[in-house]
Amino acid sequence: MPISAMTQDAFRERIAGLEVHSGDGHRAPGKALLVLLAVRGVLHGSPRLRAHSHLEEEAQPLLEVFGPPMSGSRPDLPFQRLADSGLWETEALGIASTSTPNATGGFPQSVYDLLANDYYLMKETVLHLLDLHFTKSVQPDLLEMLGVSELWDPSSRSAQASPQQRAVVAGFRATVLNAYRNRCAVCGNGVWVDGTPLGIQLTHIHWHSHGGEFSLSNALALCTLHQKLFDVGGFTISDDLRLVISSRLRVEDSGGNGWIMPIPGSPIHVPENPDHRPHPDNLVWHRREVFRK
Ligand SMILES: [Zn+2]
Repeated sequence: MPISAMTQDAFRERIAGLEVHSGDGHRAPGKALLVLLAVRGVLHGSPRLRAHSHLEEEAQPLLEVFGPPMSGSRPDLPFQRLADSGLWETEALGIASTSTPNATGGFPQSVYDLLANDYYLMKETVLHLLDLHFTKSVQPDLLEMLGVSELWDPSSRSAQASPQQRAVVAGFRATVLNAYRNRCAVCGNGVWVDGTPLGIQLTHIHWHSHGGEFSLSNALALCTLHQKLFDVGGFTISDDLRLVISSRLRVEDSGGNGWIMPIPGSPIHVPENPDHRPHPDNLVWHRREVFRK
């Protein structure tokens, strides 16, 4: 449906309404990535309508690193479904189809104008999309790769967590880091500055953005490097809590073999209490939706 003018609220609703999962429960970040590419276009002053084929080329490396694992070729970007949400407009040379090779598309004029005139809304939109579709640790990297790292501004989040929610997250983080004795579950390293642990993060196995619970059975303590590798599917963990390494991962290890990444099959470091260890249900989700074989 064409929209002559779009209010901020209507736009926010459409962004919030983009599905996070496909019908069969798999991660579906295609529409979010397409909107992010279009926001970049606004920021960089690119033409509003651009060739779909170029957008697909630009999305490809982002999907390779931050999208769900895929066997075979990736499906086309969801131009039509984004158009159905009122966030995309397609022009094909004389043919009303989004799949023709000559199709161009982009934000409708009303959306383009709204964002071009409101830098704060642009930042907020980007943060909101990242929170909905990608886990926290990869968000700044994604923007860096997209070439819009200036939009990384966590204070722009529209739906700021309540103090109660923040307290729950902080308490849970402390519980997890404590259970892992402030050491990384993969490399076993811990670093303290004047007694304060540093560089070890709470990591959800089944992403919180995609329905994962706040529980020890869905959490790991990982150092910054291993958290990023885990969250882009560079490795995963088997049901018997051993490392499974992606064939796509290349490591240059100047410190000697195994310093950055222990050998495949190595047991990870887990809490002594079996109830506090990762649960297979959560590991299955990570292996299916994040891990790159
Ligand atoms: Zn580590």
